[in-house]
Parts: sequence; structure tokens; C-alpha cells
Amino acid sequence: MSLPRSMICKGCWQQMHLPVPLRGPASIPFRAFGIRPSRMNPNTCTICELMFTRVMKARQINVDVSVLFADLRGYTTLSQSHPATAVSSLLDVFYDECAEAIWEYDGLLNKTVGDAIMAIFNFPIRHDDHAQRAVRAARDIQHRCRHLGRELDFPKGAEADGSELGVGIGIDSGQTSFGEFGRSHRDLTAIGTVVNTAARAQSVAEAGCILVTGAVRSRAPAETNAGEGRAYELKGFDKPMELYAV
Ligand SMILES: [Zn+2]
Repeated sequence: MSLPRSMICKGCWQQMHLPVPLRGPASIPFRAFGIRPSRMNPNTCTICELMFTRVMKARQINVDVSVLFADLRGYTTLSQSHPATAVSSLLDVFYDECAEAIWEYDGLLNKTVGDAIMAIFNFPIRHDDHAQRAVRAARDIQHRCRHLGRELDFPKGAEADGSELGVGIGIDSGQTSFGEFGRSHRDLTAIGTVVNTAARAQSVAEAGCILVTGAVRSRAPAETNAGEGRAYELKGFDKPMELYAV
């Protein structure tokens, strides 16, 4: 189920107090100038995407964000043992469910790579409680994706029926560099330790599990009071890192 969309760009309104129409007749002249809803979040616009170079006069800015990675476990196995047609719609459904959950909490669906997605909270739509929003979006993703396998039309007697599908999620919060990276291929994203840590946390999260860092836990105590953390060896990190299942 998709949520109602905002009539004006939430990012432009918040950052510049500019009412940029995204929908309805008022948006038509804007569309003629290429100003339209962003594909990363339909409640923000293409001006928001270019805000760094045009508005903030910088290619990158430092911003405090929460980064969420979600990965569809079991998909690779499933796609190896089944015809492409049986699983081709699965990723679309996964992406769509993730998008709705992320947009509900004003996050940006920044990337979809293979069977994983990356989301950023607190830019361009700002919220002081972005860590809490990321955790809530993660819970919503788990909830929405719990019967993902049932969407598929598997042949009778198939070895896998989609029941082994599940989502692993990792979240970290902190300062990142956000903006346009690369020259020939310009990519709008965030980079830095927070992004790497969230990706690594996701890689050790089991299907159905959400793992967050100490930074997320201290920023969103009400969402993450589940208990003790566990030390994980993460690839690329010297020391084991304490992660918390929420
Ligand atoms: Zn905008």
C-alpha cells in the first residue's frame, strides 16, 4: 500500500521556505523546467538533489545522518534454482516495500544494488530524531517483507518455496560527507565510516534481524532498549564492534 504523497517539496519548504509544487496543475510549469519529484523520495524534488552545487555552493556537505542497509537474504539461492520469470518480480516488490517504509519516515532511498538497498535519513528532509526514524523504517521493512515469498508463483513441488527469504538490516548514525561524487558519472550519495559501518552491520545481520551500532542506540534509546550488545568481527575493522539487535 502506498502512502499519500506531499503536494509540495518537503525539502525545499524546510530548507528554503519555497513551496515547490510536485503534483497537480501548479506543478506543470515546474515540470517544464525539469523540476519533478525525486526518484529517491517522491516528497522531495530534483532541486533538492542538486542543492549542493546550486544552492549550497559546494559539491559536498558534512551532515549528521543515519544510514540503513537492507539486504534480501535467500534471493541468490532462489534465483539460481528457479527460472528468471519466477523471481524477476521479487526484487521489484522488495524495492517497493523498502521505498514505502523509508519514505514514510522521510528518508531517501539512495541506492538499489542487486538484492540490497541503502537509505539515508536527515537529508534533504531534516529531522533531529533521524536515528529513531531509521529504526522505525527498518521495523516497517521487516513487517512489510515478512511474507515476501508468498508473492511468488512457484511451480508445484519446487525445492524452494520462498519461505527461506528474509531481510537483514544494519544501521549506523553520525557525520558523513553528502553530495556529488565522481566526474564522468555523477553520483549523489553519502560516503564515510558511517556508511561502511552500516553496510558491515547489515552483512552480519541474520534474516529477519536488525542490527544497530552504539551510536544509534544512544540516540534512539526508546527504540533500542532490547538489551545487551554482542561483539562482531566486521570486515575492514581492526577491533570487534558492539552491535545491538532491536
Ligand atoms: Zn525540493
